[in-house]
Amino acid sequence: MNFTKPNVWIRFARLAQITNSTNMGQGFPDWEPPKFYKELLVKHINDPKVNHQYSRAFGNPNLINAISKDYGKYFNREINPLTEISVSAGGCAILYNSLTSLLNQGDEAVFIEPFYECYFPQSTFSKAKITGIPLIPPKLRNKSEYSGITVDKLQTKIKDDWGFDFKKFEAALNDKTKIVIINSPNNPTGKIYTMDELTEIANIIKKKAPNALVISDEVYEHIYYDDHSFFPRMANVPGMWDRTVSVYSAGKIFSCTGLRVGWAIGPEEIIRCLNTIQQYNAFCMYEPVQNTIADCLTAMDKPYEGFPTYLDWYRNTYNLSRNHMINGLANKATLFDKKEWKMDFWMPEGSYFIVGDISNADFQQKHALEGDDLATTKYSKDFSYAINLAYEKKVNITPLSVFYTPENKHYGDKYIRFSFCKKLSTIDDAINKFH
Ligand code: PMP
Repeated sequence: MNFTKPNVWIRFARLAQITNSTNMGQGFPDWEPPKFYKELLVKHINDPKVNHQYSRAFGNPNLINAISKDYGKYFNREINPLTEISVSAGGCAILYNSLTSLLNQGDEAVFIEPFYECYFPQSTFSKAKITGIPLIPPKLRNKSEYSGITVDKLQTKIKDDWGFDFKKFEAALNDKTKIVIINSPNNPTGKIYTMDELTEIANIIKKKAPNALVISDEVYEHIYYDDHSFFPRMANVPGMWDRTVSVYSAGKIFSCTGLRVGWAIGPEEIIRCLNTIQQYNAFCMYEPVQNTIADCLTAMDKPYEGFPTYLDWYRNTYNLSRNHMINGLANKATLFDKKEWKMDFWMPEGSYFIVGDISNADFQQKHALEGDDLATTKYSKDFSYAINLAYEKKVNITPLSVFYTPENKHYGDKYIRFSFCKKLSTIDDAINKFH
């Protein structure tokens, strides 16, 4: 693994800057965090009694108690705040603490592809063997099928379900498998695993990989659309609580991805492992920030902006953006009918991404990333497409081959990802450039 180059997020953020592109690449909302978040942040920073020094390494009492109360509802059990929760610097640091503490040399890990790019480098630190199992893409639809999806009609019956390859999954598991990572709602496909799928996955794990634990990355837990009224969690599958660590992110819930607070929930034996890394990693999070998130977790159940709760407003906001983006791609983005930009796309049922399929695009590599020489660098198709788009149309997107293991990158180089966690005006701006 080559760690000498900056990763895709750093390089493509720079590309957006250099080309002055509308940024539909990295997944950060371009709207303000909720009003209560800012008020609480100011209140807690100014609190004369607040502690500005080191605090409890695994989460301060206010935050862990609030998490325990909130997630007790979702898991339908009492969660011990001191032993079953670990807090760190965002979902990313929780994943780092999990993967570095739970995986050792000689162990094996199975990732369902496409997956959030950090999993792979974080796992290679332990020199574990990683096997990727690609999801099966849905059939492509004619764009006209999406063209009726508008912001007036939030729900749609259209379901583009990425299939789970149970056979390949079963064949990849064995006694050495220590970790299986599932991400639902999924970045980047938007897939939400059903309880039946999770149960079948759990049964296979119990049968074939008795030593395996599941990291269930659920950072988009509250973003689901259409006929979903809740989102199924792996730890709720009978028998899975004891072998699952669930991962969450304040940045995703409160549209503040720069704040860096995340938490893991799971049985004491697993949480203890994460804590051993946390004490040598970030050590602790800043107390005024932890107090803010603790109060936000309570405030989110109250009415907000005319909605029964903040989470209802939040889901509605994402739903509007999803529909606006899909409708724009289907109706107004004529660019993607042209040979060199040919693209089809799928409808997500959760999270805030749309995957586009560029297999039929036929074009030349015309531009390079900063630091690369165009004449001597040969990019994969998805990279080359995304770089061309930034330079020529001024819209920044993400290539998908980075969401696959090195062996399976060829699956990903046919795809790109749009993030639609953007204001309707930003989406309009991007769509207007797609001509
Ligand atoms: N998991 C997934 C699936 C993600 O998409 C992200 C962020 N893009 C994270 C974890 C990390 O979250 P955080 O920003 O809290 O580190």
